[in-house]
Amino acid sequence: MKMNVTVPPAVTASRPRPAPSIMALTKSSSTPEDVSVLQRPVPELATGELLVQTLACGLCGSDVHAWRQDNGYEWVQSPVTLGHEAVGRVIACGPGVPEEWINRRVVPIAIDGCGNCDLCTPGTRQLCRSRSVLGLSFDGCASEKFSIPVHRAVPVDSALPAETLALTEPLSVAFHAVTRLEESLGKTSRVVISGPGPIGLMCALLLKDHGHSVTLIGAPRDEEQRLPLARTLGLETLLAGQPLPPNIVGWLEASGAPQALKTAISAVHPGGTIVMAGLFPSLPAVDVNVLARNEVRLLGSYGSVAQDYRDALAALEAAPERWRTLITTIPLSEGTRALQTAADAGALKVVLLP
Ligand SMILES: [Zn+2]
Ligand SMILES: [Zn+2]
Repeated sequence: MKMNVTVPPAVTASRPRPAPSIMALTKSSSTPEDVSVLQRPVPELATGELLVQTLACGLCGSDVHAWRQDNGYEWVQSPVTLGHEAVGRVIACGPGVPEEWINRRVVPIAIDGCGNCDLCTPGTRQLCRSRSVLGLSFDGCASEKFSIPVHRAVPVDSALPAETLALTEPLSVAFHAVTRLEESLGKTSRVVISGPGPIGLMCALLLKDHGHSVTLIGAPRDEEQRLPLARTLGLETLLAGQPLPPNIVGWLEASGAPQALKTAISAVHPGGTIVMAGLFPSLPAVDVNVLARNEVRLLGSYGSVAQDYRDALAALEAAPERWRTLITTIPLSEGTRALQTAADAGALKVVLLP
């Protein structure tokens, strides 16, 4: 039987469509721990920008500092989506960007400068006076999608899992610090690394790969997880306060503990080098006269440059299984728990999966 059906008017057409939104780990204000997973609008693309679907995003010590609103992080913009240790797939190009970028996997450069000044031109863009930090100066990658200027995208041609590729940025930071130290060492030497967090552990592994005699020093709480993991990866470890090996020519400080820098200054061989790869939440009072009398070099290391990203990608490709052991994955929806886990040193490197 044929029925005469009256189609009701399309009510949905008159209803405003909700703007597309994404899940994002957001620091909402400068109040400590005011960070939660929120729905935020999909970023709108400006000229020269890429829209990237996040595949994985690691959490960093700096995300934890921003979450706690620690000293030295007053400049962080909020509201802001955290996260800078990411890998993703390009899904849209803003005006002026060639369509060939679509579908490419990219790792964003975390710290970048203006591109034109006396610091950027020779390649030290992370030192630029107008540098910006992804996920702290502007919205980062601990979200389902993020946008970046195309000059901040490092193309990744790799079949490695996304969570492993999320180590590219922290490993680039380790490469940068190790390069700073090795420029002063000359040949293979006895080196000590204080601080068995992700950067310290990565530096220790790279220095060991390069043939140095490496000792990694941690605090008693690091015996729960970090130092045993370091030993399974073939590193020699010590607890802070235990007798140090002789003839320490290089020291890489990655703990941010004032006492570690004091120990380094008193223990490094005359003519040796200390590289500071960590930031200190409270500033250490150290005996700088020892530096003068012993002609010890004290060098800073901050972020990384494009070559460090390429070195990091090659190192991940060469030994993916080793680097994978550093990772604990947590869903992006549990981003606040992930920050707590990273803060408690309950995992070596937390990687969020959208
Ligand atoms: Zn980082
Ligand atoms: Zn610049």
